[in-house]
Amino acid sequence: MSRHLTNTEAENEAKAAQESLAARLVAIRRQLHANPELSHEEFQTTDWIRGWLEEAGVRILDYSLRTGVIAEIGGARPGPTIALRADIDALPVQEETGLPFASQKPGRMHACGHDYHTASLLGAAFLLKKRESELAGTVRLIFQPAEEKAHGALEVIESSALDGVDAIYGLHNKPDLPVGTIGIKEGPLMAAADGFVVKLEGTGSHAAVPEASVDPIVAGAHLIAALQTIVSRNVSPLQSAVISVTRIHSGTSWNVIPESALLDGTLRTFDEGVRALVKERFERITDGVAAAFGVKASVKWIQGPPAVNNDRVLSETAAIAARRVGLQVVVPAPSPAGEDFAFYQRAVPGAFFFMGTSGPHEWHHPAFDIDERALPLTAAFFARLAEDNLVQLGGKDALSSQDFASSQDESPNSIPNDTTV
Ligand SMILES: [Zn+2]
Ligand SMILES: [Zn+2]
Repeated sequence: MSRHLTNTEAENEAKAAQESLAARLVAIRRQLHANPELSHEEFQTTDWIRGWLEEAGVRILDYSLRTGVIAEIGGARPGPTIALRADIDALPVQEETGLPFASQKPGRMHACGHDYHTASLLGAAFLLKKRESELAGTVRLIFQPAEEKAHGALEVIESSALDGVDAIYGLHNKPDLPVGTIGIKEGPLMAAADGFVVKLEGTGSHAAVPEASVDPIVAGAHLIAALQTIVSRNVSPLQSAVISVTRIHSGTSWNVIPESALLDGTLRTFDEGVRALVKERFERITDGVAAAFGVKASVKWIQGPPAVNNDRVLSETAAIAARRVGLQVVVPAPSPAGEDFAFYQRAVPGAFFFMGTSGPHEWHHPAFDIDERALPLTAAFFARLAEDNLVQLGGKDALSSQDFASSQDESPNSIPNDTTV
């Protein structure tokens, strides 16, 4: 015999569903955390993601990716296609957290929290799957490989998995933001990340006979110092750039002046104009210093992703969705780290966020960790955002400014009853 649930019974049921989702996501995240795989080697991770999605009845799409998974929910009702992206790869770091579910693989660790990103997007998939018949359009889920190599997004785009997508969203954990907050910012959020290799070729000699040499080490030392003037003298103080020489390779012995030196490092910028200016100055200074010291110089650029640059309207949509699931929205400081999500934003409008995870250490630290209370919040946010954005882009029941205003009153850490959690 069926009957209507009382308010209390309905609330208890919703609470139980939230708790069971949270427990499931913690288990998934820990399984991934214990079994990290490097970029392009995410085979087991890929199998597990497929398995979890299939178990939930989510459609897996067939694209020619060696690792990573593309899946889709909705489509029964016509409408736009919204993509949600999580990255799935780990890093060559030896874990030092001492956690019971620490990496079982020596020298491999989810030290950037991509295990949490993956589990959160799976959580969103579980929530959206339950609402599938209501979705006015399609949600495409992108479990992307090889973010740490900055290639994965390009591989996804080349596989055509972004075709037909109207907007794309992604996020990264942020250890210095507390759980329950989300950093949303229109415009530049993360830097363009380029690499460089400078080769200086001179003439070797006995260390005691320097006049017979053209010393690439002395030239390199002057070059490193001169490159610092690009940021201090060429880039406007109102803009920013980073030039770090991070590796020097030269010489074989204490008493031999070597023939050549290799210097490599990275360049970070938030603006395409600054990026071009810095590269132009870098090459000119390298040529000039090389000429002054009589060495031959060459500069090789390793082109990385452009800056993550967030669409204004999508950022506003995200702020509304975030408040609706009880998150406190803050404007984050941009990060000079790079993110290959930027490649998607070149192809379709997109926005990328920082989700607070109250971590004890920064990204890539051997004792990096996340506060797992962020998992169900992130899943709820992703799901809410996709559903809201389908409605908004579909032009039906567009969110009014009243929604925006009322959503600001909600308390930061509570999940309102109208969410899909
Ligand atoms: Zn990373
Ligand atoms: Zn990362």
